[in-house]
Amino acid sequence: MAAPRAFLRSVEGKILLNNKWVSPTSKKLSSLYNPADNSLVSDKHAIGNQIDVDAAVAAARTAFHGPWSRFTGAQRGDALYTLADLLNKNAEEAAYWESICSGRVMSQLKYEVPWIASVIRYYAGWCDKLEGEVLSDSNDGFYKIVRHEPLGVCAGITPWNGPLMVLALKAAPALATGNTFVLKPPEKSPLSSLFAGSLFEKAGFPEGVFNIVTGDGSTGAMLAAHMDVDKVSFTGSVPTGRKITDAANNSNMKRVTLELGGKSPALVFPDAELPKAVQALAQGITMNAGQVCVASSRVYAHEDIADELIAGIKKRFEEITSTIGGDPQDLSTFFGPVVDTHQYNLVHQFIEKGKMEAELVTGGNKWEERGNYIPPTIFKEEIFGPVLCVRTFKTEEEAVALANDSQFGLAAYVWTNDTKRILRITKQIQAGSVGVNAGVSLFPNAPFGGYKSSGVGKELGKYAIQDYTNVKTIFISLLR
Ligand code: NAD
Repeated sequence: MAAPRAFLRSVEGKILLNNKWVSPTSKKLSSLYNPADNSLVSDKHAIGNQIDVDAAVAAARTAFHGPWSRFTGAQRGDALYTLADLLNKNAEEAAYWESICSGRVMSQLKYEVPWIASVIRYYAGWCDKLEGEVLSDSNDGFYKIVRHEPLGVCAGITPWNGPLMVLALKAAPALATGNTFVLKPPEKSPLSSLFAGSLFEKAGFPEGVFNIVTGDGSTGAMLAAHMDVDKVSFTGSVPTGRKITDAANNSNMKRVTLELGGKSPALVFPDAELPKAVQALAQGITMNAGQVCVASSRVYAHEDIADELIAGIKKRFEEITSTIGGDPQDLSTFFGPVVDTHQYNLVHQFIEKGKMEAELVTGGNKWEERGNYIPPTIFKEEIFGPVLCVRTFKTEEEAVALANDSQFGLAAYVWTNDTKRILRITKQIQAGSVGVNAGVSLFPNAPFGGYKSSGVGKELGKYAIQDYTNVKTIFISLLR
């Protein structure tokens, strides 16, 4: 599509307070680049300071006690339904702004943006169905009411590898339950979040309900430590997640939800449908140039089928490599660049280290033309890095032990047609999501969130609703 520059000019250097794009007090700016050729997209990305963060939190607090508190559930639902409709109507432009600074391909975003709208619609549907409880039959002389109340001002801090989706995963349940929101989008790819921000007023949200303060880690840290923020929901790396938990504990003990990294395993048994497994495993690790938190980056293949599986994925990787360098905004491009030169260099450092430690099956070389493209790579043996690492196993017990031998527990995948094995293994695997004969998938109505160091709390489904509410018991004496 032709670059819709008018929108960029209207938000450059601005933050969103009370439904208006305003100039922050901070004069600090950073630059945004297109990873397909490292050209400059904008040199006016505002880095919000403490005064800007305070202003956004104050706007959200005022809105929380103001008109938003008088919205019925059905009215909140109407606003969310309208927001979803607006996102669908403007899906192509939203996808463009998601793609331009991240290198994410429009051919995938074409499907992802409507999916994001479906998440918003899912939570819109909850708005007028939120209930409490009455505990009246215990004969203890009390009539008890259990109420579920919004927390107040919630902050969302999001990563560059799927900022629009993560915005919806956090803001939709927060707003559905009556909270107000302050977003700190990622400094490498903030534009799709700004585009979404421009839709809230049109959708009928009163001023102050949804605010955006752009910035870097320093801006995020101010939100995490803020004394008037009631919850922070973060998606990103484990070290940042730790800092956010510390900041929350050292300030007002605000609620924390963390969606962190994963090195998700895929276990492939001899009775699996190999062509399907090959297709899903190759797609899982090349989607978003391997920068997907739930990607199956560790593959454990039974020794009887390992050679066939590796040969299949190698063939698919080589097909992808032959198309490398395509423009992410071109709908025929399937494989894009990594987000920036920092990430590009990091991945190549891992690959060079891997070459010393493990057998290289395919890839591993440098793309010498423009852009941050990295040929998909397979190693036999495990190394740390966003490349596919394949090892073999002999027994089911060994496969489960290998899968669980990680500090992470975000997702796992099992490829087998043996029902008893499916039931045994899915119980033993320590991960928040386990896909059976299926690749990377999220569903609006199914909870998502990690075990172990992969996170705290859940997003999606009714579990996210719980994570955005306080539970209050009111007890009324019936004694005369
Ligand atoms: P990151 O942790 O560097 O940054 C994420 C966000 O946190 C950014 O907005 C950044 O500005 C902000 N931030 C940085 N330092 C901060 C601080 N001290 N206090 C508050 N905020 C701070 O992560 P990233 O590199 O942008 O994202 C990639 C990571 O995200 C990967 O590890 C990936 O696995 C993970 N991820 C997880 C999920 C999930 O759902 N579990 C989804 C997508 C990405």
